[in-house]
Amino acid sequence: MHHFRSTAQLTKSSMNTEQQVTLTQFIIEQQRRLPDASGAFTLLLNNIATACKQISHRVNRGALIGVLGSAESENVQGEVQKKLDIITHDIMVNALNWGGQLAGMASEEVDEPIDIPSQYALGNYLVLFDPLDGSSNIDINLTVGSIFSILRYPKTVAPETEDYLRPGHEQVCAGFVLYGPSTLLILTTGDGVNGFTLDPDIGEFILTHRNIRIPEKYNEFAINMSNQRFWEPPVKRYVDECVQGSEGPRGEYFNMRWIASLVAEVYRILTRGGVFLYPYDYKDPSKPGRLRLMYEANPMAFIVEQAGGACSTGRERILDIKPSSIHQRVPLVLGDKNEVERIVDYHHQYDQTQA
Ligand code: MN
Ligand code: MN
Repeated sequence: MHHFRSTAQLTKSSMNTEQQVTLTQFIIEQQRRLPDASGAFTLLLNNIATACKQISHRVNRGALIGVLGSAESENVQGEVQKKLDIITHDIMVNALNWGGQLAGMASEEVDEPIDIPSQYALGNYLVLFDPLDGSSNIDINLTVGSIFSILRYPKTVAPETEDYLRPGHEQVCAGFVLYGPSTLLILTTGDGVNGFTLDPDIGEFILTHRNIRIPEKYNEFAINMSNQRFWEPPVKRYVDECVQGSEGPRGEYFNMRWIASLVAEVYRILTRGGVFLYPYDYKDPSKPGRLRLMYEANPMAFIVEQAGGACSTGRERILDIKPSSIHQRVPLVLGDKNEVERIVDYHHQYDQTQA
């Protein structure tokens, strides 16, 4: 039998005055435990958080401030840009270029890395970001997000493009912000994953999800089924077996989800478990995958692994890939460790038959 809470009890808990931990406080406390950390890192994260608050505000106002719809231009990927792709890119650049913590940054939306204007000091970090992930969802009012990846940069001169091309396991921090029913920042600095909810009344991200771990054994997969006829045999095999449910070799029912917004998919997996696939397919064999290594796969892989999951192309651990170009695309399989391992194993078995 359910015991409904009385209004008096609800009021009491909503008036909870327990000490809240802000993002800044959390980062400073984490920094104290790292021997070589500096205040620059806290400032950098603060500037990223400020940019994301501004983006959250714009996304939230939507049509009221005329930010929806197409910008009638194309980005470097040949994709039609939304107005908000451009606005959010500018917000990120303007929030990050002046602080003296960065030596440079790279954005999904522009061809070449962005230099720090000469009037500002150069710092010891590089940031790579997707300012608005899932932007095709913006006009239908579904969840979108921002994704970022931070690398250390030891040199004292301005970086070249190749300075950005570091494997994902060298990231010192990765995160994403979901602009959903609430605005949520998910963060790792290599010591687990924590979530912070934006309190719009005080304008601060508050620690609300401590030490996020991917729940195991949740039978749910996410894939764009419309590409089924282009999939490789190992991906077909995995999905076939899931769809056969309790009558198939898995002997269990599997549920399917597809939001077409990486940030929302990854957050669902962090919360509930399961697996997400955007695999290699034969639709356009010249394209190695759909998602970008530097702005999407690497930061998500760092987060997912830190939450106890796994992340692979199907054949290689994402975090071990040595990038060849800044806008490189990769196949992506991430989530529940056992499921990802099974999918990797199916690829391996298939490749054996082809050898
Ligand atoms: Mn994206
Ligand atoms: Mn984007």
